[in-house]
Amino acid sequence: MSVAVTIETIEKRFENFPALRGVSLDIQPGELVALLGPSGSGKTTLLRLIAGLEEADRGRVLFGETDTRELSLRDRRIGFVFQQYALFKTMNVAENIGFGLKSRPRRERPSNEDIRKRVGDLLDLVQLPGLEKRYPSQLSGGQRQRVALARALAIEPRVLLLDEPFGALDAKVRKDLRAWLRELHGRTGHTTVFVTHDQEEALELADRVAILNEGRIEQVGSADDVYDHPATPFICEFLGEVN
Ligand code: ADP
Repeated sequence: MSVAVTIETIEKRFENFPALRGVSLDIQPGELVALLGPSGSGKTTLLRLIAGLEEADRGRVLFGETDTRELSLRDRRIGFVFQQYALFKTMNVAENIGFGLKSRPRRERPSNEDIRKRVGDLLDLVQLPGLEKRYPSQLSGGQRQRVALARALAIEPRVLLLDEPFGALDAKVRKDLRAWLRELHGRTGHTTVFVTHDQEEALELADRVAILNEGRIEQVGSADDVYDHPATPFICEFLGEVN
């Protein structure tokens, strides 16, 4: 099968600051790739470029064979989960999850009955059955992020982009959700890019980890690759904390 996402020599400046300095990465269908690096290394910028929320100064992003500049934001079909504020506070869980489906153009919009069924299936999938009528304020932080994931999955995303999705949660919940997401990914097999600055999280969760530093990817590999053969002094130092 062809590559799901190809990132080709992306450069991106903000004012005069080079946030990304020639980043290339291939992501295979169904792969879970973590973008790992210290704050300011360019992880979120790269995620936003994949989503089409930023434009590259140089280079391009392909989905399969298609240059993403040819796709509208809707046609990119990105499922996004952010660290915080991921849910609409004034909508209940079912409305939050169904939002992406309801806002489709009329001819592509599923019936209300189909949306209701799909929301129920997604709540089963994220192991929160029966919570349709709850409001975000009535959920724990971990439950909220699981609902946010259900909402991202509702549109049957081509690519799932998760930006520090567990960053605001306490350590125990984070650890539980990490294992849960790994298991869920094993079942659903979405092509996923997961941004984190937490080494343990990245190395436990991802099939491959791309380690960023100052706008460049310094190494891409499995947890074993990067532990056993750290490619640069920066990576030795950065991973030192978990070794
Ligand atoms: P990370 O996600 O790794 O913390 P970011 O991608 O958010 O890093 O940011 C990379 C660099 O680009 C940072 O130095 C940040 O300050 C800068 N940057 C990101 N977005 C903007 C923006 N909209 N305007 C100006 N600078 C930005």
